[in-house]
Amino acid sequence: MYSTPNNLQEFSYTKIEDLGNKRVIVRSCLNVAVDKHGSVIEDTRLKESMPLIKELSQKAKRVVVMGHLGRPEAGNFDRAQSFWHVAELMAEELRSLNKQVKLVQNFEDIKDDSNTIYLIDNIRFFKGEESKDSAERIAFAKQLASLADAFINDAFADYRESASTYDIATILPSYLGPVFLKEVEALSKLAQPQRPFVAIIGGAKLSEKLDALKALAENADIVLIGGAMAYTLLKAKGINTGNSLYEHDKLDVAKEILENFRERLVLPTDHLVTLSFDEVSAQDARVVSDVNVPDGEIAIDIGSKTVQNFKDHLINAKCILWNGPMGVFEWKVSEKGTLEVGTAISENPNAYKLAGGGDSIAAINKLGLTGFNHISTGGGAMLAFIAYNKFPTLDVIVN
Ligand code: AMP
Repeated sequence: MYSTPNNLQEFSYTKIEDLGNKRVIVRSCLNVAVDKHGSVIEDTRLKESMPLIKELSQKAKRVVVMGHLGRPEAGNFDRAQSFWHVAELMAEELRSLNKQVKLVQNFEDIKDDSNTIYLIDNIRFFKGEESKDSAERIAFAKQLASLADAFINDAFADYRESASTYDIATILPSYLGPVFLKEVEALSKLAQPQRPFVAIIGGAKLSEKLDALKALAENADIVLIGGAMAYTLLKAKGINTGNSLYEHDKLDVAKEILENFRERLVLPTDHLVTLSFDEVSAQDARVVSDVNVPDGEIAIDIGSKTVQNFKDHLINAKCILWNGPMGVFEWKVSEKGTLEVGTAISENPNAYKLAGGGDSIAAINKLGLTGFNHISTGGGAMLAFIAYNKFPTLDVIVN
């Protein structure tokens, strides 16, 4: 688990002195969902990024904004992954402040105009951003840094080290934006939780959540595990998992985790199973009230005994962390486990409740669940924060 410094607030963007005379460059999380033409279809991250951009537009001498979208091939300015629509939406948000947005691919188009927000097009279009050649990355970071007097990182979710998230902070005086600060403050509460601290994790792959699972097994009192990742653990225990999804190459490490944290890990004891992994066949899914999945069948959700057991733990918790679905929640027939645990968490009146990851957020939105103390939009970043004692894009600013 990351150990947050006590003086985090000293690195807040609000500490930038004489902002009116400063040109600032901001790294936002603008990784919205787009369709094949690049039209934005889900804009939560853009909406979250706007308060800082609006504030700076009114206070700073010049504002340059950067962010990434998807995984384009560097060097290729492709319209489907361009910020053309993000720029339009940003402009709408800024219209009432009499500010305009200019989308730039060429840094020479960035002028000294305090009425314009300069949005650099998808930063991953530029070869230096994620270059394996560190000299190329640093050279690009220097180019970006030359556009401003101060750097603000507001992209907690974009936690991988790249020119625009990390290297630039080694060059310019650097600060944290409100989204980044809020995420860190919320997650830091898990380092000294009220107990019992119950973590509930699910999703497809144990491998992606392995380090976070180990850290949670060390810090939490109970870790409830659902989703396909549970079947790698059940199989490692010698339980029959039928044709359920599991990761063969993770069986050894799964055994190790089970041995080390036997009493803290709680796995499904019954399952919703189907004969074939598709939504139509899944209409005939049935609950198997045994821990073993019958040969030839596939578990697609936790069963009702498991739901009840998980709920019993969640009701007594004083701190809850939730990441990942309990089953194939995209299908109506197998959404119940995820929705029921989500509801149970939301209804616990006493716990500090934190959720993260795209699927948990989708379940929360679907049900209109309320009462969460924090919902992290950075699923991978949240797991990295929990799993390790370093967080490079933060360390480079606060250390
Ligand atoms: P993740 O991105 O790792 O949180 O995984 C989310 C995905 O895991 C969702 O698309 C779910 O449909 C899938 N998933 C959850 N449980 C199962 C399961 N038992 N079998 C197959 N896929 C699952």
